[in-house]
Amino acid sequence: MMPLLSIQNVSVSYGKVEAVRNVSLSVEEGRIVTVIGPNGAGKSTLMLATMGLLRLQGTVTFQGEDLSHLSVEDRVERGLCLVPEKRELFHQMSVRDNLLLGSYSRSDRDAVAADLDAVYLRFPRLKERHRQAAGTLSGGERQMLALGRALMSRPKLLILDEPSLGLAPLIVREIFDTIASLREIGVSVLLVEQNARAALETADYGYVLETGEIVQSGTSGDLIHDPRLIAAYLGGH
Ligand code: ATP
Repeated sequence: MMPLLSIQNVSVSYGKVEAVRNVSLSVEEGRIVTVIGPNGAGKSTLMLATMGLLRLQGTVTFQGEDLSHLSVEDRVERGLCLVPEKRELFHQMSVRDNLLLGSYSRSDRDAVAADLDAVYLRFPRLKERHRQAAGTLSGGERQMLALGRALMSRPKLLILDEPSLGLAPLIVREIFDTIASLREIGVSVLLVEQNARAALETADYGYVLETGEIVQSGTSGDLIHDPRLIAAYLGGH
């Protein structure tokens, strides 16, 4: 079966510094795939390049289509959506308006209201706070809003850059449970995480990125029991 997303021999440089080197990975439809690795491994760089926000060498295809000549907007229209690490929200605007911004590229306006209800059902806390300014939300609520806004674009593939960053363990659990539940609505996920344990517990398949290169890959079940990964990233419990 053709993968939904295929990244082939991709390299990305900042000037003379090559931050991502010859990386290949794929995401099958309906799967949650994670890229784990330490600070500075190149995870964000790879995601930004996939989205068209950084120049890359190599090939990225989505549903078999080469994305190299497509703008970021075109990629969003095809069904790709990135939730960046910084969860860039419009702080002065309400929760509801931030959510509606996620649907700006859609032409099926009638379905937007139904999707807004679906997001509120998934995140009741956003519903309670729908009139509140996004800037006043807690860290966990902001992450929910960033996820909810991404869902408002009806993505086929959601790229999540460190959704657990800076959140308390209980909230991390909640966020990862939500990510796992996206399978049920047919959204595939590419999940970038430093929190390797939580990521592998949620994902079907994983890749390990170190200093710009994929050094290991396998099913989450295999990776989570791998002695080297346990020693390096999984804290030995
Ligand atoms: P983290 O988990 O800390 O976000 P990461 O795995 O996402 O790390 P990147 O942010 O992709 O890693 O960074 C990869 C490398 O590229 C790092 O060495 C970083 O210093 C470098 N880098 C990132 N952004 C830039 C930039 N705009 N200009 C120059 N170098 C950069």
